Amino acid sequence: MRSKKHPPKIGISACMWEGDPNRKIFNGRPILYLEESMSIYLQRLGALVYMLPPAVNGNVEAMCRDLDGLVLQGGVDVCPQTYGEETLQPEWNGDARRDAYEIALIQAFFAQKKPILGICRGLQIMNVCFGGSLFQDISYFKPNAFVHRDAKIYEKNTHMIDFLIDTELSKIFPSLKQAKINSVHHQAIKDLAPGFVVSARSSVDGIIEAVERQPQAEGEAFCLGVQWHPEFQDVEDDSLLSSTKILDWFMQQIKMTSL
Ligand code: MN
Repeated sequence: MRSKKHPPKIGISACMWEGDPNRKIFNGRPILYLEESMSIYLQRLGALVYMLPPAVNGNVEAMCRDLDGLVLQGGVDVCPQTYGEETLQPEWNGDARRDAYEIALIQAFFAQKKPILGICRGLQIMNVCFGGSLFQDISYFKPNAFVHRDAKIYEKNTHMIDFLIDTELSKIFPSLKQAKINSVHHQAIKDLAPGFVVSARSSVDGIIEAVERQPQAEGEAFCLGVQWHPEFQDVEDDSLLSSTKILDWFMQQIKMTSL
C-alpha cells in the first residue's frame, strides 16, 4: 500500500504521428505526442501526468502498475475495422495501430481496477473496447444531425446536452438538467457497449455525448467517457459545463481505488 500522501499519478495515452518524409524535424520519424492543454488540465488539481508509450515488450500491465488512473486523449478517428466494419470512405479509416495500443491500455487499467476517463476519441475507443460500435460519420447516418465538428471554429462549436437521471454524471452536476459543451467530433457512438449506460445526449439530435460504466463487482473502478473536450475550456468561461468538477470527480475516484 502506497502512502496516501503521494499525488495521484495519471497515465495518458499518446497521440501518434506517423513518419512523414516531408517533415524536416526528427527527419520524418514517427512521433508520440500529447496535446499541451490536456497536460495542463490534468495537472490543475495536483495530479502528476505521464504519457504512456506503446509497450515494446508487450508488458503493458507492468507499465500501468505504478499509475493510479488512465486518461484517453482525443485525436484521430477510430478505424472501423476495429469494431468489425468495412471503412465506407477512405478518409474515415482512422488509425488501427493507435486503437490496438489504447485497447491494451484500457484492458490493463480495467483489470487493475483503476478508473478511466475517456475524452472525445477516448470515449469512442472505450466503447469499442467493451464491445460497442460507432457511426463512421454522424452526417452519413443521421442526415439532419447538428454539425458536431466545424473545422473553422473548432472548440468554439457548442451545443446543449441533456443529462440522464440516476447516473454518476448527474451526481457530479446535481442541480443541472442541461448544460452547454464544446463539440469537435464527426464520429459518435452507434451501439453502446454492454455494461455501459448513457449519461448525456445532445439536446439537438440525441447523439450520445457521455457514457459511464458503473462498478459491477467488488473493487471495480468507474469508466467515464465524455464526447466534448474539457481541456479546451477556459477555466473562467462559466457558460460551459464545469471542466474542473469532472476532473475533481476523477481525482476522487483515484483516491477511492488506489491510494
Ligand atoms: Mn457533440
